[in-house]
Amino acid sequence: AVPVALVAGLSRAAHFGVLIKGAGPLETMARIRTLILDKTGTLTDGRPQIVAIDSHDGMAEQDILRLAAGLEQASKHPVAQAIVVAAKALGLSLSVPSEVAEVPGEGVVGSVDGHKVIVGGDDFVAKRVGRRVGDHPALAAGSVLVAVAVDGHMVGHLVMADPLREDAAAMLDGLRREGIGRILLATGDRVQVAERVTEGLGFDGLRAGLTPDQKVLLVLTERKNGPVMMVGDGVNDAPALAAADVGVAMGARGAAASAEAADVVLLVDRIDRLGPGIEIARRSRRIAV
Ligand code: ADP
Ligand code: MG
Repeated sequence: AVPVALVAGLSRAAHFGVLIKGAGPLETMARIRTLILDKTGTLTDGRPQIVAIDSHDGMAEQDILRLAAGLEQASKHPVAQAIVVAAKALGLSLSVPSEVAEVPGEGVVGSVDGHKVIVGGDDFVAKRVGRRVGDHPALAAGSVLVAVAVDGHMVGHLVMADPLREDAAAMLDGLRREGIGRILLATGDRVQVAERVTEGLGFDGLRAGLTPDQKVLLVLTERKNGPVMMVGDGVNDAPALAAADVGVAMGARGAAASAEAADVVLLVDRIDRLGPGIEIARRSRRIAV
């Protein structure tokens, strides 16, 4: 039987918007040493806005957006959804993509209106068409940069702003108050973007350019120093959440796959509940033992 204090703890946490899936995760949560956070959709708002379209080969900006958005209809990545929303808001009519192949957390390849289209991170697209943007000013500004290739040429970049969640600083304070000594950011995005986004927040380390598999490796490496909590929102975070001692999914807007893989689901769209959630876990564990 589960001690009454643990049941009370689970119930209190749930009322607070932190759904803990049982007594086991609650007990482990009380012992967390390292916390790893995903960036896009977890530390940031995850609903990026297009702030500029940069055309390289003279293709009309509207055509770049139309082809990119057409393909992105096939992807559930928050960046993809934002591109589709932006294109529709501009009244562009989007064709149904075919022969779509997605590499989770990296980008999508497919056919739109008879054109071969590739959309994704700069490295993902450059690897397939052999042209990189190098040091785009958007990277230094912390913007998410999405590359678009059409018929084998890098035709442009979408510059997207994805602001920090407003409770990001409060979250870090809350975790420090609980004595979490090691807080890391893990992202598939580039290092310049990660650095800019975390500026002044006091992370203990940044790991950028990670594939979903590399996020898993990071979790496993950090587990050598004690229990690890991993927080993520995307389909591509599900393996890392499963590899962590405690996986936490952003339930309000995150992918269903991440909520399934997680031990804890944040039911409210806030990350400042993490510290208090750990506090509840610790208190109920102390009472139970
Ligand atoms: P994070 O790890 O920070 O949550 P992801 O690994 O999900 O970020 O994505 C990292 C980057 O990969 C994005 O910023 C974007 O540039 C690119 N990316 C991934 N999937 C897509 C997609 N479907 N469309 C466009 N870009 C994508
Ligand atoms: Mg993410």
